[in-house]
Amino acid sequence: MAPILGIDLGGTKIAAIVVDADDAPVASISVPTDDRPLGDQLVSAARQALDAAGTEYRPAAIGSGAPGLVDSKAGVLRMAANLAAVDLPLAAIVGDALGVPCFVEHDGRAAAAWLYQQRGGDGSLAYLIVGTGISVAVIVDGRPMRGAHGLAGEIGHVVAVADGPLCACGLRGCLEAVAAGPAVARQVAAAVASGERTSLPLGADAELVYRAAADGDPLAVEVTETVGRFLARAIRGLVLAYGVDRVLVGGGLARAGAPFLDPINRELDRERHASWLARQALPPDLIELLPPDTDAGARGAVVIARSGLRAAGPGERGQREVEDG
Ligand SMILES: [Zn+2]
Repeated sequence: MAPILGIDLGGTKIAAIVVDADDAPVASISVPTDDRPLGDQLVSAARQALDAAGTEYRPAAIGSGAPGLVDSKAGVLRMAANLAAVDLPLAAIVGDALGVPCFVEHDGRAAAAWLYQQRGGDGSLAYLIVGTGISVAVIVDGRPMRGAHGLAGEIGHVVAVADGPLCACGLRGCLEAVAAGPAVARQVAAAVASGERTSLPLGADAELVYRAAADGDPLAVEVTETVGRFLARAIRGLVLAYGVDRVLVGGGLARAGAPFLDPINRELDRERHASWLARQALPPDLIELLPPDTDAGARGAVVIARSGLRAAGPGERGQREVEDG
C-alpha cells in the first residue's frame, strides 16, 4: 500500500491526516474554515498536511469526508446547508490541484467505515452523531447504507413526538427538534423564562446544560433525562430496523460523557426490564461512547481513499467510483 491523505471537512474546521503505507499517521493538521471558496480551503489544508509529512509521503490518493448531501459516485458535494455549498465538484477540484485521484464520501459514513475497520471489520454497526443535528451511518454486514437519494441515515427528521415542536426542516416533532443541541438549549430557555428552579442562565447552551446536570441542577437533569429517553428510543429503532449489534455515539452532545450517556442507558434498562424483546435486542454493552478526541473523520477519509483505489484498479486515476465497503 501507499501513503494516503485523508481530509475531513467539518462545519467549523478542516482536519487532514497523512498516513504511511501501513496506515500509521505521519502528519495531521486542523485549521478553522474561513471565507475563501471551499475548494481552495480544502486544497490549502491538503498542501499543509503534505508539507508537514514531507516529500517521501506523496499520497497515492486523497479521501475527503464532507457533511450534507454527498454524491460519492460523482465526487460532488450536492448540498451542505452549514457551508453554503451547492453542487461543488470536490473530487475534481482537490484531485486536479494535487495530481492524484480524490474520493469523496459523506463524513458520517466515512467515519463509520474506519470505526468498523477498527472493530475487526465484521458484524453490523451504527455510528450515531448527536450534535447540532442528529444523523446515523449504518454498516450492515460490511456494506455502508447510502440509499437512493444519499439521505439514508437522516434520522434526525424521523418523528419522535407526533405533532411536536417545529423542526428546521419544516416538519413537526422530528427527533432533532427534541433531542439535538439547539433543542436542549430551547427547552432550557423556555423553562428559565417561565421561572423554573435552576442555576442555568437564559442563554445556556447544551454543553452548559450537561455540565449543570452533572452537578445535579434539577432543570438540567429533567431536560437531559428527556433527551436520553428520546435517543434511547431512536437507538432501539436502529437496532430493530437494521440488526446492528453495536451503536457508537459521537458528536458535540456526546462529548459531555456520562451525563449524556447515563440517561440513555437508564431508559434502555427500563425497556429491558419491561420487555423480552428489548432484552434480546438491546444488550447492556450495546452503546459505546467515542472519546471526544477521536479523529474518525480524517481516518475515515483515508479508508474511503483506499477502497476507492481498490475499486478503480491498478493504473487508474481521476476516477469517480467509490466502492461500497
Ligand atoms: Zn426535521
